Amino acid sequence: MLAARANVLEPTTERLLAARTWQVEERACASEPPEYPRLPPASELFAHGERAVLFVIDGLRFDLWLALRPLFERAFERKAVKEELRLAPAVSTTAAARTALFGIGVAEDLERFLAERDIGFVSAGERDHNRRPLAAALEGTERARRVVWLNMLDDRLHASALSPWSLAEALASDLSVALLPQLARIPRRDRVVLTADHGFRQSPHWPRSKPRYVHGGPTLLERAVPYVELA
Ligand SMILES: [Zn+2]
Repeated sequence: MLAARANVLEPTTERLLAARTWQVEERACASEPPEYPRLPPASELFAHGERAVLFVIDGLRFDLWLALRPLFERAFERKAVKEELRLAPAVSTTAAARTALFGIGVAEDLERFLAERDIGFVSAGERDHNRRPLAAALEGTERARRVVWLNMLDDRLHASALSPWSLAEALASDLSVALLPQLARIPRRDRVVLTADHGFRQSPHWPRSKPRYVHGGPTLLERAVPYVELA
């Protein structure tokens, strides 16, 4: 199992995470550091009615994206042509990011909200979960504009005491089963953008108490997310 997983990610990626070549500092940044723009509203992507898919990977911190980028590029058969670090809201929760991305309230149903705007929505995770809607969303057969939300990382984060590298490996192997083989279904002419709702950090109380990873606060680790266009 471990040996199989180890092949999924590039060996250089382990060094990247271990050495923290890309530094996400454990510092609060409730006030916006000027070098990092905020997560943009998805309406920017969907404004012109052109065919587009927005992937939101729940909990994908920017450095984990860097670890997974080669995998995604192979699966999409596209390159990350634009790659930015964006700041999720200072309250680094899924609900806050949904508001930032889509402008909806906490209690509102995202799927219905998007459907009213002729945007498709599918939430995907485990193997075969929502397989048919996921295929339709990737192919864009029902709607030209769609959002694919992936929960598998956040689910693991809240239950896991793995090292960040092992988390990246676990996520890579989940993705390899549940999503990556299907990404080539996306029509060539569609725009593809990938982002995340929040990051995470190690709890200051760990290992004395669980969980190991938390989010919901203003540190850069909890807020730094990728905003990537693949073409
Ligand atoms: Zn979470």
